[in-house]
Amino acid sequence: MARILFVEDEQAVLDTLIKFFTKEGHEVWGARTGTDALELADRYKPDIAILDVMLQEGPAGVDAMDGYEICKALRETGFDRPVIFLTARTTEQDKLVGFELGADDYMTKPFSLLELKARVEARLRRAGGARSIFRFGTTTVDLDQYAVVHPDKTEKLSNRERDLLHFFLSNRGRILSREELLKKVWGYKSGIATRTVDTHVLTVRKKLRDNAQTPIFIETLHGVGYQFIGKES
Ligand code: CA
Repeated sequence: MARILFVEDEQAVLDTLIKFFTKEGHEVWGARTGTDALELADRYKPDIAILDVMLQEGPAGVDAMDGYEICKALRETGFDRPVIFLTARTTEQDKLVGFELGADDYMTKPFSLLELKARVEARLRRAGGARSIFRFGTTTVDLDQYAVVHPDKTEKLSNRERDLLHFFLSNRGRILSREELLKKVWGYKSGIATRTVDTHVLTVRKKLRDNAQTPIFIETLHGVGYQFIGKES
């Protein structure tokens, strides 16, 4: 599973992309404008970005970034994951512009979803797959190693703790209810005592050295659920 950001101004095309890649098991976000794209990239830290080059102006008429400009802006904010351009332009010159701006691949429209899927997977493989390492100041979460690494100590995570932390990292900024966590992380349908979630959150929080009163990673929203608020640095 990878986290994919699509930028495409044609709603129908965007819907098709989101539907197809969600069905493939990926976590997908879609934006129609540069502003939205940058905001989503900042918030959700996707593993790969697929950018349409030619974008119409945004609803307010002020947002006229094209795919190239979005790519440049993403790179300037430190986004170092693969970028693939989707475009109707086919000239060599256009491709060169894209590569100069830090694109990794290029697909011309009309494209086949299966080919795009193959290219996305190839790019992700080359980039080392979906992200597994997340740095928060001196705390590093390494999902592949099932570990939270502090300068003086490494805390190992159990399978469930790792899955829980992975889900938090994939849904940062979102408020997650205990029911949703039970469903998505534990695979329970419903009707299970929710104490399980709290116990695991407590352990994960401890391993992150987070403090429930003044959290910097996982915030408790009483009567609602939890929210991952950690900021990567
Ligand atoms: Ca377009």
